[in-house]
Amino acid sequence: MSRMSRERLHLFDTTLRDGAQTPGIDFSVEDKVLIARTLDRLGLDYIEGGYPGANPTDTQFFSRPPKLARARLTAFGMTKRPGRSVSNDPGLAAILDAAAPAICFVAKSWDFHVTTALQCSLEENLEAISGSVEAAIARGREAMVDCEHFFDGYKRNRDYALACVHAAHDAGASWVILCDTNGGTLPHEIEEIVAEVVKLVPGEDIGIHSHNDTENAVANSLAAVRAGARQIQGTLNGIGERCGNANLTSIIPTLMLKSAYAGRFEIGVTPEALAELTHASRVLDEILNRAPLRQAPYVGESAFATKAGIHASAIIKDPRTYEHVPPEAVGNRRRLLISDQGGKSNVLAVLGRLGVEVAPDDPRIGRLLEDVKAREALGFSYEGAEASFELLARRALGTVPEFFRVESFRIMVERRHNALGELVTVSEATVKINVGGEIRMSVGEGNGPVNALDQALRKDLGAYNDLIGDLELVDYKVRILTGGTAAVTRVLIESGDATGERWFTVGVSPNIVDASFQALIDSITYKLLRTGAAPV
Ligand SMILES: [Zn+2]
Repeated sequence: MSRMSRERLHLFDTTLRDGAQTPGIDFSVEDKVLIARTLDRLGLDYIEGGYPGANPTDTQFFSRPPKLARARLTAFGMTKRPGRSVSNDPGLAAILDAAAPAICFVAKSWDFHVTTALQCSLEENLEAISGSVEAAIARGREAMVDCEHFFDGYKRNRDYALACVHAAHDAGASWVILCDTNGGTLPHEIEEIVAEVVKLVPGEDIGIHSHNDTENAVANSLAAVRAGARQIQGTLNGIGERCGNANLTSIIPTLMLKSAYAGRFEIGVTPEALAELTHASRVLDEILNRAPLRQAPYVGESAFATKAGIHASAIIKDPRTYEHVPPEAVGNRRRLLISDQGGKSNVLAVLGRLGVEVAPDDPRIGRLLEDVKAREALGFSYEGAEASFELLARRALGTVPEFFRVESFRIMVERRHNALGELVTVSEATVKINVGGEIRMSVGEGNGPVNALDQALRKDLGAYNDLIGDLELVDYKVRILTGGTAAVTRVLIESGDATGERWFTVGVSPNIVDASFQALIDSITYKLLRTGAAPV
């Protein structure tokens, strides 16, 4: 099983396009940029950014696309309208104009959809496929085609479904992706049908796009690979319409850690990047503002959790007794009710990633770990708030100066009629800050209490004013955590500055304003620390 003899499998992520169809998910441009960077670091081959021209968010995303280190940014869109010329189709123009090196067209491949939904002739649809692919290639783009409803179409009109594949392939598409759009096809059917397709078109040019409606999207993707397909499309954490898409968070470790696949195939994800998989999964959940699924394979909180008793004592003797893969391989950790050894190495790993140097046997690490555990019990989560974690760690190591101290703050919320007789709610915050022994009082106004508090806090920080001038709040997320007798609020704030850097801070309290206050203070402190501010 030498490296040379392994075949290359390509991973195509559609979290930002198909994943955005998930009920309740509404990505901002900032969210999309952050997710794209996370996917790029993970080592995916293609990142589908969205559908330029279809909505303002996607259009804006493609107008200033993130710089990716290795993944190819891909624009998604429909093939040209039947009956129109390539040059006379504004929808196609928006896709061709998008700043992305690759384009993935979606095309109908089920005759019933062509005649019923598109209402054009079967021949016109084939021309739309080949014409769109040719137009993309003429513009210097890599062209791919998603054959929508391919498996349902194949079962009803095999020849036409295959004609669509040929139309795309013959026109020069680098990949033709067979889509189980309704998600109802089972693994044995996928394997049989893909095996037939790759007799006609080389498997190196065939991809699979599965939906999870029978909870087989991962199994279907693997079945397609066994039958010869060499590109897998899916989403991080399996998000997507209805029951979701094929879950890349499960597929990636399966391909890398299971010998049946690892021995035959190679993907763009390195073992080092694989060790960041749990982190990437949690980052997405934080952006989506939802609780990570505890039972998620590989990356879930419970994936390697064993209750005390005979299982736990066997695990201590040798983890292989109850674990199918080592948790560290995917950046997760073993959880035992007795002596949790995973915590320390985890903290050291994160510190290493943040560039904080400390000896593994430093007693302050143990204290930091206790602190993190106590805070996590209160509801803090540092997976999505690395700036707050870095401050906590640096404080434990004694390297964060006290730049300023907030002596007190007060917030008023007033609901009244304005001069026009409209009912308005305005907030006013007063903050008393001690900067180098000097007391400063500032008042801020806002449309809500957090906004007013932020305005007041940053209004006058004395000597630091110039240093925080470009600090801006990019995003603000609130989650109510229930459990125990009272609900607590966790606030996650994303901040940025003129350098383009983004950082995340967290606050937890039964009171939403107090939780926001903690996250705001962490954000300002982190910014001052980063700019190398000298305490006054
Ligand atoms: Zn889909």
